[in-house]
Amino acid sequence: MSVSVVLFTSDLRVHDNPVLRAALRESDRIVPLFVVDDGVRDAGFDAPNRRAFLADCLADLDASLRSRGGRLVLRRGDVVDRACSVAASVRAYRLHVAAGVSRYALRREERLRAALAEAGRELVVHDAVVTAIAPGRLTPSGGDHYAVFTPYFRRWSQEGVRAAVGAPRTVRVPDAAEAPGIAGEPLPSRAKITGVSEGLAEGGETAGRRRLRAWCSGGLDRYEAGQDDLAGDATSRLSPYLHFGAVSAAEAVQRARRRPGPGADAFVRQIAWRDFHHQVLAARPDASTADYRPRGDRWREDAAEIAAWRAGRTGYPLVDAAMRQLRHEGWMHNRGRMLAASFLTKTLYTDWRVGARHFLDLLVDGDIANNQLNWQWVAGTGTDTRPNRVLNPVTQGKRFDPRGSYVRRWVPELAEVPDRYVHEPWRLKDEGGAPADHPADYPAPIVGLSRGRERFERARGA
Ligand SMILES: Cc1cc2nc3c(=O)[nH]c(=O)nc-3n(C[C@H](O)[C@H](O)[C@H](O)COP(=O)(O)OP(=O)(O)OC[C@H]3O[C@@H](n4cnc5c(N)ncnc54)[C@H](O)[C@@H]3O)c2cc1C
Repeated sequence: MSVSVVLFTSDLRVHDNPVLRAALRESDRIVPLFVVDDGVRDAGFDAPNRRAFLADCLADLDASLRSRGGRLVLRRGDVVDRACSVAASVRAYRLHVAAGVSRYALRREERLRAALAEAGRELVVHDAVVTAIAPGRLTPSGGDHYAVFTPYFRRWSQEGVRAAVGAPRTVRVPDAAEAPGIAGEPLPSRAKITGVSEGLAEGGETAGRRRLRAWCSGGLDRYEAGQDDLAGDATSRLSPYLHFGAVSAAEAVQRARRRPGPGADAFVRQIAWRDFHHQVLAARPDASTADYRPRGDRWREDAAEIAAWRAGRTGYPLVDAAMRQLRHEGWMHNRGRMLAASFLTKTLYTDWRVGARHFLDLLVDGDIANNQLNWQWVAGTGTDTRPNRVLNPVTQGKRFDPRGSYVRRWVPELAEVPDRYVHEPWRLKDEGGAPADHPADYPAPIVGLSRGRERFERARGA
């Protein structure tokens, strides 16, 4: 009897999972394994929102495997140590895993390969599982990765996305007699995790596929026009499912393309952004912490300003609304992310790493490639070709939240402020608004926008 181990990482699904497929094809039995990895915790990456979403994903994956005759084996500890010991206990010759791109994932691969080889076993790493197109597959002439999105996207669009593979009908796992000692530990329970955002979405492949289906049949057509409408909430909200691999990026592209139109084009383009950041990080793993394009910044560090930004009390309604959405849902609209990040890194001229850390502490889709490289993009130390642009929260508010509905949803102190003042409530005072209109419990701006912009431009020599 031949046995292979499938080590699930960022591919927590049974549909379109080439790792699972390959292992089932080559062996009589497989051991579907997930290791709650001490290394992820030690790296400070196991934020409560992601742990809760992960718990849903694992429960759902286990249920899917059981309905096919298998089950998920869960271990806790060092991922390499636990994976090797499971492989040894079932005498598996091969262990299959999806290719990762972060420094941590690359190191995990290296360690696994070496440890398995020592015991005469083999590691099989599968590409294009986490992304639609594998990092490293597309390269510009004379370079190992694309540093600018537009040419990357041109190339990406010409490349075929691999065909999605169906979910297996049956999953054969060794029984207790064949593999004593692989019973596994209890799955984590979402209910026991503290510090989780109240409005956190439900995780898991079943919920993710439901969302993908509803999105393709309902949301996609309105996406191009509504993508930046903060109050309209007209984006897919698939990011956490994509992050955990509960939904496959390749399948999402294929399904969207079956409904051709501007909405599908715009959505597929965003998936390409995700691939783009993954291929940058795969080529430059140090970009998770170091400036991709150093600008000689000597960042400011004002503890009170950073605390106000984190708490959603900067006095700029759109920034504050976005920061409060983040805390409440563990998720933030993309326009809000750009604005909150621009405000921190440019108006307050604070190191992007401070903001990226806070986002990683709360975001359910918190992802090293997408988070760190989007932060760098906004801060102007990344791949943006206009590194010194500064977003203005007032003009952005008037444009993307013209009635102030998004602001009022998240900043109840401004509920009664008339539309024309909702993005600049301080003008009520300047223009002698009736005292009753003054939002008494809402802070005054922590910095003037022109002052912040001048300081930033001076620092950058822009
Ligand atoms: C400062 C900052 C930090 C960010 N941190 C993360 C993060 O940690 N994890 C994350 O998944 N996204 C991150 N993003 C990208 C983007 O904001 C989110 O992917 C998006 O808001 C998720 O919502 P959605 O699923 O409704 O997106 P949709 O608009 O429906 O887009 C579909 C999918 O495309 C991908 N996508 C969309 N925009 C981007 C982008 N700019 N870069 C990369 N992929 C994109 C996502 O996987 C998303 O689910 C960040 C953006 C900024 C500006």
